[in-house]
Amino acid sequence: MAKYVYFFGSKGTDGDASMKNLLGGKGANLAEMARLEMPVPAGFTITTEFCSVYFDAGRKFPDSLKAEVAAALKQTEACMGMKYGDPDNPLLLSCRSGARKSMPGMMETVLNVGLCSETIPGLIKKSGNERFVYDAYRRLITMYSDVVMEKAEDVEPAEGQGIRVQLERIMEGMKEAKGYESDTDLKAADLKELCEAYKAKIKQVLGRQFPDSPEDQLWGATGAVFKSWNGRRAVSYRRIEGIPGEWGTACNVQSMVFGNMGESSATGVAFTRNPATGENKFYGEWLVNAQGEDVVAGIRTPNPLNEETKNDQNRHLASLEKEWPESYKELDDIRTALEKHYKDMQDIEFTIQEGTLYMLQCRSGKRTGTAALNMAMDMLAEGLIDGRTAITRVAPAQLDELLHPIVDAEAEKDAEAFVSGLPAGPGGARGEIVFTSPDAVAAEKAGKTCILVREETNPEDVEGMRAAAGILTARGGMTSHAALVARGWGKCCIVGAGAMKINMAAKTMSVGGKTFKQGDTITLNGTRGLVYEGALAMIDATENPRFQEFMKIVDEHRTMGVRTNADTPEDARVAREFGAEGIGLFRTEHMFYGEGSEEALFVLRKMIHAGSNDERNAAIDELAPFVKRDIKATLEAMDTLPVTVRLLDPPLHEFVPQSEAAQDELAKALGITVDEVKKRGADLHEVNPMMGHRGVRLGITYPYLTEMQIRVILEGAAELKKEGKAPHPEIMVPVTGMVEELDFVKPIFDRVKQQVEAQSGVEVGCLYGTMIEIPRACLTADKMAKTAEFFSFGTNDLTQMGFGYSRDDIGGFLGDYLEEGILPADPFQTIDQEGIGQLIQMAVERGRATRPDLKIGICGEQGGDPASVEFCFKAGLNYVSCSPYRVPIARLAAAQAAVQAK
Ligand code: PEP
Ligand code: MG
Repeated sequence: MAKYVYFFGSKGTDGDASMKNLLGGKGANLAEMARLEMPVPAGFTITTEFCSVYFDAGRKFPDSLKAEVAAALKQTEACMGMKYGDPDNPLLLSCRSGARKSMPGMMETVLNVGLCSETIPGLIKKSGNERFVYDAYRRLITMYSDVVMEKAEDVEPAEGQGIRVQLERIMEGMKEAKGYESDTDLKAADLKELCEAYKAKIKQVLGRQFPDSPEDQLWGATGAVFKSWNGRRAVSYRRIEGIPGEWGTACNVQSMVFGNMGESSATGVAFTRNPATGENKFYGEWLVNAQGEDVVAGIRTPNPLNEETKNDQNRHLASLEKEWPESYKELDDIRTALEKHYKDMQDIEFTIQEGTLYMLQCRSGKRTGTAALNMAMDMLAEGLIDGRTAITRVAPAQLDELLHPIVDAEAEKDAEAFVSGLPAGPGGARGEIVFTSPDAVAAEKAGKTCILVREETNPEDVEGMRAAAGILTARGGMTSHAALVARGWGKCCIVGAGAMKINMAAKTMSVGGKTFKQGDTITLNGTRGLVYEGALAMIDATENPRFQEFMKIVDEHRTMGVRTNADTPEDARVAREFGAEGIGLFRTEHMFYGEGSEEALFVLRKMIHAGSNDERNAAIDELAPFVKRDIKATLEAMDTLPVTVRLLDPPLHEFVPQSEAAQDELAKALGITVDEVKKRGADLHEVNPMMGHRGVRLGITYPYLTEMQIRVILEGAAELKKEGKAPHPEIMVPVTGMVEELDFVKPIFDRVKQQVEAQSGVEVGCLYGTMIEIPRACLTADKMAKTAEFFSFGTNDLTQMGFGYSRDDIGGFLGDYLEEGILPADPFQTIDQEGIGQLIQMAVERGRATRPDLKIGICGEQGGDPASVEFCFKAGLNYVSCSPYRVPIARLAAAQAAVQAK
């Protein structure tokens, strides 16, 4: 029979850190810390595997599990010297979720489980602290009714009518009636009265009694933890993060220790290094006489851990280092031991119960891209990790954040911040103010950049936080859940801007005498925690020497090439600076779009509207210098590196003039009427242009167009060679599905090449290859490779034609497909490895069976997506090609794939 329960404690720990998949991150690390003889309160983990069993069994616990739990509970009691449910010496428990990947604040926790009429008197006697016991009880009632009796039962209260809010209102009412300022003013008798009022309210609102049996409480809380895996927040977060539903969460049942036992107790959260900057300083927050939820919920501004990491917001508050030096020293030693052991920055939770320190959690901490880079480079220098490990410490997507803009210091000098807060997520962001998560989502959909402004950080806002460019809150500390989540996503985020007053009803925010409304623009400097009115200038952060150093190590481990998709010399130069090793796709047609393209486009239109072959060929000759100019300049910008030039791809009607003026001008140039221009344009109309007269099909109907393109590419290269340069053109035929198409174009290529070489007197090396973007090309790749000297996967079209989804129209149903879990991700952004991936693998295999040294790359959009890069590496591709700004991301993803493969 499967084992579902794993014990941890001072002796007899079952699990260890390697068992994250089974025990979840929290459970595995608790076991590991217990093994390291750190002060971990004993307990047990019910496995992630059981999570599926629980749901499959209709959310029920089998008897076998109850027996396993009973045995582990006995071990726990033995370690702690207390007994669960015992009237004289009661042990209390916490039930916490913990998946294999951390999902901060997205699932549920219930603390103080086991407090009831039978155990309360015993605990009062033992602790000699009645106030503490009733405080713990009112917290249990609040959490339990919210998590177990409401959320886990799928009760959907009206806005502002949730049980937690209703109970909190009772407490606020009492505080007001008694003239108390803070929760800590409540006396034992007040809390006792409050607990009774709470229970009555629960009965009235939820129609059920609050359970008074330790047994019922334990199973109720455990069930709710498992159910929270499928709670709304968790499901949204999983979708965004790509965490599969079948992983499940574990449930950690652990002995309670109390940070709220009085003035010699405390609780805190810390990072072994600064998670926002990476600085090698012990960084954290703590609160006297509090439970963990008080720190992460962001309700009170927490105290700093030590003197050197104080900031403007908490400078006036006492540090743990100064207040309780012994506990600080013990914690600092654990910090050192944990870093030595895990060789990574740890995010820890601790509690001090009447002067005794306990560790409640450790895990690899979420960090910003800047922090990830700095920590990797520091730990490498410290000898804690090697280069291979260092490059795995920065997620490719985090590089994106490093390459993102920051507020221009020059512009900032002249501006005055109207409010400041804690710098929870660095970088800069500017946008329109929104006050709710749905408004942020709507703004993003409308193509606007927005800043989500909230009273406090709340994990319910995950969708809005995702959609916003930046996040600004009035309350909360650096370790609040939302700050963690924002940091993980590399969002610019400022929390605890206490001077800001938000009026949700009016959707306004005011600071001092100034009021901002929804839609007003502000700028955040998340690195410094400063907020400005209006839109400040931003600059690029690429010049960072640490980044350059890191990328050097990346390239030492990378084996697969990284090229760029670029159509202009300017793009080519940018990409080269980002480390591109050539161009994987030069889309010839792009020279007819945008700025400066008018002349060339006009000649192209003449060609398209030609009335005879002679007219068309004359127009093609006229077009040649334009095409040559752009290609030659790009070859020059990529000197010494390969440039894959793709022959004209799109259907010609895309270039037909639409405006009257343009039609008129063209009519004059061709000596025909405007009506005739319109008619010739209309004749090119197609029902399905994506599958119509495009790509190689154009090249076959108009061979002279093909010839011209090949000629100017080779002539451009020959001229550069004569100038002492080293151009490496590669000619690529698009949208092919049959080798016969390649065989039609090849003689033109050979003939023109011979002519150019004869005329110029220089040998122009040039490969002849094809896009692989039609499923039939994959199926017949063995034949395609007889003629093609290289393949480049056009995964945009391959996905379009493999799925039968129009790449231009997927927006109509993609949202529903993602929401329903039919598609795990947009296949135009990340390769569908299961389906389209097979076509790629087949083409690689069949192509190389014919031509073992066949060079293969990818130039579809997915070429810059880290998961797709890893797939391409495994499929044996020689290079990926992506847009210039994604080149560093692809380099890192490729290096990580190589390291993992070893
Ligand atoms: C592709 O289809 O993946 C490709 C790169 O070509 P295009 O996007 O120009 O069709
Ligand atoms: Mg294509």
